[in-house]
Amino acid sequence: MFDRFDRKIDYLRISVTDRCNFRCQYCMPENSIFMPKDKLMDYTEIALLADRFIHHGIKKIRLTGGEPLVRRDIALLIKQLGKYVENGKLEELTLTTNGSLLDQHSDMLYASGVRRINISLDTLDAGKFAAITKRGDLKLVLNGIKAAKNAGLQVKINMVALKGQNEDDIIAMAQFCSLHGFDLSLIETMPLGNDIAERADNFIALKDFIKPLQSQYNIQPIDYKSSGPAHYFWVKELKLRLGLITPLSRNFCDDCNRLRLTTDGKLFMCLGSDLHIDFKQAIEIGGIEKVDMLLQKALILKPKRHYFEDQMTDNNLSVTRNMNVTGG
Ligand code: SAM
Ligand code: SF4
Repeated sequence: MFDRFDRKIDYLRISVTDRCNFRCQYCMPENSIFMPKDKLMDYTEIALLADRFIHHGIKKIRLTGGEPLVRRDIALLIKQLGKYVENGKLEELTLTTNGSLLDQHSDMLYASGVRRINISLDTLDAGKFAAITKRGDLKLVLNGIKAAKNAGLQVKINMVALKGQNEDDIIAMAQFCSLHGFDLSLIETMPLGNDIAERADNFIALKDFIKPLQSQYNIQPIDYKSSGPAHYFWVKELKLRLGLITPLSRNFCDDCNRLRLTTDGKLFMCLGSDLHIDFKQAIEIGGIEKVDMLLQKALILKPKRHYFEDQMTDNNLSVTRNMNVTGG
């Protein structure tokens, strides 16, 4: 599949729930109201859409949320999607998780064909972790990370850069990832949802965030490319692959290969836009033919780029969805 800017689209992110056991301060407000359960797609609907998207050229699927592992019986969906990995129609099935439930799910993930996962962890300091996630328990997450490693999953740690909060933690995080053989990806905080206070105050460009690391270690750009938007560096002394995801300070929309399906069946063609197509309704009224037709429409409507830079400073411009709706 190609969009009208000739970008190849082969990556689908599916948010399987907007609910979460954490309330990370940059992601959603503490008093979040979630989608009513009767509006959500069931696993049959999600699997049907995944099947059509794969038929048209999707090669990678990432499950996200909210916290994907809090959705009841999520193993049923993961096993079902894993069959596409087994029969070679899908190159990769993966997920992004806060890690808190990996203790229970890591073996199931590996058995279902998942080989790599992203785990979000912004700090190794228990106090800061509790303050950032509001409800998170660092010990549970570290247990989950250990379980994932023991199950044979390749782990990438996602760390959101937060000015004045985890700036001091970059070296400890890099050393932790190096010790365990994990990749580390740093993410600039994005202006999603217009009800999150102190957004602009928390922003720090990654070129500044990595300064403490640069002053201690030799960091060189490398050619490595993943299916996501990170550009990569090698931290020589730590033998660490470091990814920088810089939606604000260095735009990467020219290479965007992604579509994003929410748990209520809306397909967003760009994280930074409210433009969407309702695929749940399409299944209900038109079946597979309607789904196929709307997918072509989605390719035409995919925006050229996001405008996070303007949205960061002007709340009126920012997209209304919080990050837990679309996931990352
Ligand atoms: N709950 C899972 C987790 O935390 O990994 C999956 C969903 S979470 C929304 C996906 C990723 O988005 C996480 O790595 C999280 O840190 C990141 N994220 C959430 N809100 C963000 C924001 N406003 N800017 C940048 N990244 C954000
Ligand atoms: Fe939950 Fe992930 Fe959002 Fe944190 S970033 S509140 S863990 S969905």
